[in-house]
Amino acid sequence: MKYVSTRGIAEALDFEDAVLAGLARDGGLYVPEAWPEFSDDEIADLAGLPYAEVAARVMLPFTGGAIEFDELRDLIERAYIDFAHRAIVPVRQITEDHWLMELFHGPTLAFKDLAMQVIGHLFEHILTKRNQRVCIVGATSGDTGSAAMEAFKGRERADVFILYPHNRTSEVQRRQMTTPTDANVHAIAVEGDFDACQALVKAMFNDHEFRDGMNLGAVNSINWARILGQVVYYATSSIALASTGPVNYSVPTGNFGDIFAGYVAKQMGFPVGRLLIATNENDILHRTLQTGRYEKTETTQTTSPSMDIQVSSNFERLVFELCGRDGKAVASMMDDLASTGAFELSQGHLDHLHEDFDSARIDGARVKATIAGILSDTGMVIDPHTAVAVAAGQDWNVEGPVVSLSCAHPAKFPDAVKDATGRIAELPDHMADLYEREERMAVLPNDLATIEAHIRSEART
Ligand SMILES: *Cc1c(COP(=O)(O)O)cnc(C)c1O
Repeated sequence: MKYVSTRGIAEALDFEDAVLAGLARDGGLYVPEAWPEFSDDEIADLAGLPYAEVAARVMLPFTGGAIEFDELRDLIERAYIDFAHRAIVPVRQITEDHWLMELFHGPTLAFKDLAMQVIGHLFEHILTKRNQRVCIVGATSGDTGSAAMEAFKGRERADVFILYPHNRTSEVQRRQMTTPTDANVHAIAVEGDFDACQALVKAMFNDHEFRDGMNLGAVNSINWARILGQVVYYATSSIALASTGPVNYSVPTGNFGDIFAGYVAKQMGFPVGRLLIATNENDILHRTLQTGRYEKTETTQTTSPSMDIQVSSNFERLVFELCGRDGKAVASMMDDLASTGAFELSQGHLDHLHEDFDSARIDGARVKATIAGILSDTGMVIDPHTAVAVAAGQDWNVEGPVVSLSCAHPAKFPDAVKDATGRIAELPDHMADLYEREERMAVLPNDLATIEAHIRSEART
């Protein structure tokens, strides 16, 4: 199995190199050269198996022989050993035809853990085989940074440095980054905003002497292994609920990673029906589905901050499919985006897009009403990102069961939950002492040389 770039120029890589590389050298994203397909019998055989077993079977064809099945299954079992729910991803019914898929039982209480925990073990496996080390750097506005730190903490062959905007994350998010005690994970509070953090990370990758000297790596949302780890829960849940027909998914969407994993599951033959792109006020994808024009505007701050973004990086992977896998066409659209802040989809592309996807925009007032409504109907407390999906799912005119993705634990966003319900969302037991744990971070100026010097002196490489 080879991986090709969505922009058609960078050389095709095997699984391990594509995972270590993250972004392709032509600026594109890696995708498998073809989607592996499962037969009806292979899919039927998965019903009722433990989550890690299904995960290994689903992921194996993507690895192109890089890892033995038993080893992959063991690695995935280790990745999920600390999850607070034995089912790993439980699915709960909220009405006759509407379910919630709970993706927040991992160590940082958001769905990022599902893929990231596997990536931590996968990197260790690949780096050991190659006798290499890596220094992972990343910028985060919230959930990804802590998920990466939890996934790599204590690993022999990796150091992790996460840059986040000083005083601009939620307290829970900050504490999740500043309280791990392992010596190889580091939180850097940058005196600047999220864009400044991202620009610094980009600059480090463009500083070739630093990049090669430190062997920099990235596990950001465009890394192929992030998508791969997310395909699995569409497989397990669609198999479990498909007795009355294909299962439809309402997905709270920011970078388009999570929902693209649903599209992949559908290409593989799993009984996935339609996919609903649920956005908050940052509705670039909803507008794109309506008008065919993908156009950046100002970012609005909402109660669902993990979706407060204007460029939906993984959408490029779908555009590649819409263009019949013509990398040149994708590259030209991405050039338009870089130079004018927008690109256009043709009517043909748009029709193709509507074959699988619908979209909805849910505003803050509706989010608040939905959190309150679900509490009174079911007794369950949901987080604001989940509420975006649930509200969109409630309005959705679609045949068959609807699963809304519940992407974060409500205690991760206590202010929005309190505002909607008057209740304090309690942290789960394994994190109950988060507010007492000692914090450790370096507060540094928004200056590349200072931050590079800090990383050089702290990394074990
Ligand atoms: C990351 C995240 C999202 C958005 O997922 P994408 O893959 O970027 O579309 C939604 N909700 C929560 C809680 C998240 O952490």
